[in-house]
Amino acid sequence: MTAEQILSHFRPGPVTRDLKQFVRKNAFSKQYLFIRKKGDTTGYCSFCEKDVPLKDRSSLKHNAKTTCPRCRREVTLKHVWRGIKNIVDEAYVYHFARSVKNKQMITCQTFYVSRFLDSNPGAIKYSPSCYYVFSRQGAKMMYVDPYYRQYVLTQSIYTKHPSGGLYYGWQGKLAVNMASLARALPHTPYQYSAWEDYTDMNEQILRYFALFAKHPQVEY
Ligand SMILES: [Zn+2]
Repeated sequence: MTAEQILSHFRPGPVTRDLKQFVRKNAFSKQYLFIRKKGDTTGYCSFCEKDVPLKDRSSLKHNAKTTCPRCRREVTLKHVWRGIKNIVDEAYVYHFARSVKNKQMITCQTFYVSRFLDSNPGAIKYSPSCYYVFSRQGAKMMYVDPYYRQYVLTQSIYTKHPSGGLYYGWQGKLAVNMASLARALPHTPYQYSAWEDYTDMNEQILRYFALFAKHPQVEY
């Protein structure tokens, strides 16, 4: 398989509503409530991605922890006028889908996801990292080389650790969308792989699928 052939199994616009929803809810370990101006009656919650009404405004100190009145999540308060530079949240996300070309195949794509909360809190950047394709015939993997911006096909299936190489010291969260896997599996050979027993493996389940592709009897 060539890089183009692998890409043909993925939708051209990979950042779907479903992926955005998953990222909003699961990818970031911290959430914030931004108050734009002193005395504002609303604040912007990074989890809700909306302005929410503030009740008791007297206790809302910069950097204090509170609960968002809408989503009830713990949020850190930020007074925007005090400066909120350098708030960058990062995550590495695994997302599964059915191949757009062959309904018997499942795909997985990984992304570096980041949001820069000091400029536009709602803006989340998605950088594709790895591509996996699983068919009855076997499994293929390629990744985007971050230096040369080229696709590289790998010899075997493995999971990339986001803190390796270019991203040395990376401290983001790893988030695996297992619900997207459950949706992609029906009517593919992998449906009968006993995958339900391996969901604890999280992203490592890709290696199990690679093994299953080679030896469909592995479940026994
Ligand atoms: Zn909220």
